[in-house]
Amino acid sequence: MNAAVVTVGDELLAGRTTNTNATWLCERLAERGVTVERVTTVPDRIGDIATVVGDYSAAYDAVLVTGGLGPTHDDVTMAGIAATFDRELETDEDVLEWLEEHGYSRADLTSGTAEIPAGARPLHNEAGVAPGAVCENVYVLPGVPGEMRAMFESVADEFVGTRTYRKTVVADEPESALLDRFETLREEFDVAVGSYPGESVRVELSGPDEETVAAAEAWLRERVETVEE
Ligand code: ATP
Ligand code: MG
Repeated sequence: MNAAVVTVGDELLAGRTTNTNATWLCERLAERGVTVERVTTVPDRIGDIATVVGDYSAAYDAVLVTGGLGPTHDDVTMAGIAATFDRELETDEDVLEWLEEHGYSRADLTSGTAEIPAGARPLHNEAGVAPGAVCENVYVLPGVPGEMRAMFESVADEFVGTRTYRKTVVADEPESALLDRFETLREEFDVAVGSYPGESVRVELSGPDEETVAAAEAWLRERVETVEE
């Protein structure tokens, strides 16, 4: 299974908020064996949201959208998703009932609070008010990190992929000096080799077979200067 993550918000593009939601979602999806192919941030604008989400919905198995829920004027994500699929926004009766059961009165809710695209499946907000929704293969989640995480967990089982095994070797050599060994690794073992230089070079070996990844790790450890971890 593959997926794209779309984070919505002017404040993200202006650098006022660090996009921890994207990192968190990528990590959780990767853990579940889902390959994330795109992470894109768009402004709080209906047209931009609809264009990107429409493209990604057609290209990937699932799209996860976070941010810009709720009924305030700058929260236009639900309208963007409705526009993506050419649907209207409708007040969802299930959402209203759920909110009532959780201590909110219909009369006190800001107008628009329970609106999701027509025909979408509502996702209840265990940690806040604004509901999320699943519309075709698009999962719409809140922007507040605690709310987003709780809502993702309620649908996490719907994201499944092939398990990938991973081993890390931290090499105390320049990256350029390691290239020949990377080439041999790829030739001899069914593993992907990721190389992430910093003060030392973090080498990530991954693949679908646990024993092969372990054998590749052992092979490399015998042939590099490693940093004590
Ligand atoms: P609300 O209903 O409270 O308005 P929301 O779902 O509409 O929530 P936003 O308005 O987009 O979400 O963002 C609310 C807050 O959540 C932001 O001020 C910011 O602190 C945080 N936030 C939003 N998007 C992200 C993100 N991608 N990464 C980290 N934090 C985020
Ligand atoms: Mg908001």
